[in-house]
Amino acid sequence: MKHKLLVSMVSSVLALTFGVANANDKGAPAHWGYEGKTGPAKWGALDEANSACKLSKEQSPIDIIDSKTKKAALPALDFKYVAGSAEVINNGHTIQLNLPAGSSMKVGSDEANLLQFHFHTPSEEKINGKTYPLVAHFVHKNADGKLFVVAALFKTGKENAALAPVFSALPAEGKPNTLASFDPAAVLPENRAYYKFMGSLTTPPCSDGVRWHVLKQPVELSKAQLAAFKKMYPMNARPVQPLNGRVVEVSE
Ligand SMILES: [Zn+2]
Repeated sequence: MKHKLLVSMVSSVLALTFGVANANDKGAPAHWGYEGKTGPAKWGALDEANSACKLSKEQSPIDIIDSKTKKAALPALDFKYVAGSAEVINNGHTIQLNLPAGSSMKVGSDEANLLQFHFHTPSEEKINGKTYPLVAHFVHKNADGKLFVVAALFKTGKENAALAPVFSALPAEGKPNTLASFDPAAVLPENRAYYKFMGSLTTPPCSDGVRWHVLKQPVELSKAQLAAFKKMYPMNARPVQPLNGRVVEVSE
């Protein structure tokens, strides 16, 4: 026991010091990050549970090339988001807002509950080869456990009032903030035209079967807000993945 504890302590110290993979014997997920030995190119090898990161043929994010998209009569994204409390956490990979039950999204015959949203900088999605400075991923789950993610891209401009209470007090790891009233709908752009494709989680274990909806119209945040996020997470975006024949549909 003592030996195991020591090994675990040493490996934790190493992980903290060098950011190396924390191969432990407790079955906990392997450490991962965005560069070097635990970066995206290594995710699939860090842990057997991450095999989809290297084997799946429908990985996210992707570069959406407008000329290669297929126009389609996609059902409208019907956001049934409500204001309520929100827990703002720093999970060591991003800042995430955990939301209470009550907000959902309806798309055609599919309805899924909003669980959380979080940020990546720069945007993981590229549009015609270009990244945006930030993206928010709204993660929804339906009754069958299927995930539906909505991506809202950000460009710099005026301050984002809805996110001001989040970006003005970004939490440290293990020290969540609680917002008494937060309206997730206020983060979405006015125009709800979107790109749709099948993809995956963009972080380990990279599970596929995730339906993606990338909103075409970006929203704004100030340079100061972006700088506050980047101070905590200078880069937390997975590189774009091959399409492997997938078709990206776009609202008509
Ligand atoms: Zn994400």
